[in-house]
Amino acid sequence: MSGVTLQSCGACGHRWQFRRGACPSCGSAAVGEVEAGGGGIVWSVTTVLRAPLPELDVPGGYGIALVTLDEGPRIMCRAVAGLSIGDRVSVAGGEDGLPRARRA
Ligand SMILES: [Zn+2]
Repeated sequence: MSGVTLQSCGACGHRWQFRRGACPSCGSAAVGEVEAGGGGIVWSVTTVLRAPLPELDVPGGYGIALVTLDEGPRIMCRAVAGLSIGDRVSVAGGEDGLPRARRA
């Protein structure tokens, strides 16, 4: 169990990260939840040096990555330092609701 929960459409099978009341692909309200396996590949990564909120301001900044999960959806994650595009990562749920990606 990765602790990464996706929403899933009961009509078309589309899966996505952030909560919505209807499927962004087909508009169906038959929305459920599925647990992601937690494996994926870094699609993009950056370091945020100027935090948008004081509570996010940490020395050296923090990493944000877009990770393409093995199941297909691309999700936003906090990233450990040193990740590169194409790295194989393990993603686990974070206590603030944003998953954490680290090299697998
Ligand atoms: Zn759908």
